[in-house]
Amino acid sequence: MEGKIYLDHAATTPLDREVFEKMIPFYTDVFGNADSLHSFGRSGQNAVDNARDKIAELIGAKPSEIYFTSGGTESDNWAMLGGAYAMKKQGKTHLLTSSIEHHAVLSSAERLEKDGFDVEYLPVNAGGRVEIAEVQKRLRADTALVAVMGANNETGAIQPIKEIGELVKKNGSLFFTDCVQYAPYRKINVADINADMISISSHKFYGPKGCGVLYVKKGVAVEKLIAGGEQERGMRGGTLNVPSIVGFAYAFEKCVQEQERNAEKLKTLREVFLRELLKIDGVTLNGEFVEEKSVPSVVNVRIEGVDNGTFLYNMDLNGIAVAAGSACASASLKPSHVLTAMGLTEKQAKSSVRFSFGKDNTKEELLFTAKTVEKIVKKLKSK
Ligand code: PLP
Repeated sequence: MEGKIYLDHAATTPLDREVFEKMIPFYTDVFGNADSLHSFGRSGQNAVDNARDKIAELIGAKPSEIYFTSGGTESDNWAMLGGAYAMKKQGKTHLLTSSIEHHAVLSSAERLEKDGFDVEYLPVNAGGRVEIAEVQKRLRADTALVAVMGANNETGAIQPIKEIGELVKKNGSLFFTDCVQYAPYRKINVADINADMISISSHKFYGPKGCGVLYVKKGVAVEKLIAGGEQERGMRGGTLNVPSIVGFAYAFEKCVQEQERNAEKLKTLREVFLRELLKIDGVTLNGEFVEEKSVPSVVNVRIEGVDNGTFLYNMDLNGIAVAAGSACASASLKPSHVLTAMGLTEKQAKSSVRFSFGKDNTKEELLFTAKTVEKIVKKLKSK
């Protein structure tokens, strides 16, 4: 097969060329600082306003509820720290989050723990999903914030955020959901989810890297994270990244418009791939695929007796890019916290691999990948 095969779309996606074309003028001609009062600035501000309106409309929010950030990580940090510190003023210092969150959320939780917050981690079932009863059991009068992601980046398991949001709302606590992996595959309607805060990142749906959004529901008081100028209604300092904000809005619009069509395609790719993959001796699916409770683009398997680092390296030598889990943790040798939370042993977690497809992958690529996996597994086992 000619060329390389990219199967790591959960880590990042390529920038859509059409989106890139829309961004270019904002690097060169319309370069003004969006907060400058002259015409150069106003042109930038107009573009930001249009992007904000578009994004708000796509998730059923008001433009004033959309804040631009430098990506999913900043949005997650802001929601966790800003939400927790605001609630501390009401005497609430208990936090609930899941054990399978992205490190941007977990590291923020650890920081809050050091700062005196009482943090509890929700377990997940073998399918990698939080059970509502586990949330219900742990909610307290002093629960400040509950953070449960929309879809997990390592397994693709969708979490029951709507139901959790309802419980949390009734309890008078804040609900934050990291929708970085959910937004590319499921339509978001803020009213349905009952969330006070939602994070989204543009590079997961063919938009530019380094650009995120935090939705903050009207009336929810969060403390600011980035001090500086009066940008973003005084809530987030820093010159706005106009080209990327424009790119975010276009990419997101396109993503929502194509969501159903792409989901069908990804579903077919997934079925074909998994059928071939599971025929290979020693390959077992991690988690449980339930169509309405999974994003269609992720397959996480373990390969008995194979170290995932060595496997990845061999796949790469064969021109195929896959991942051992989250890209943010791939430099560490630790087994995945997501897989061990699901009950896998450390050894099983260290033999696990994530394949994540994109809209431009083909059936031929996936059949070739499955054949290559078979070849590499045989080679590694024979050693
Ligand atoms: N949250 C989840 C679930 C993610 O998968 C990622 C990125 O992989 C992030 C947050 C961080 O987003 P960003 O890369 O935009 O900082």
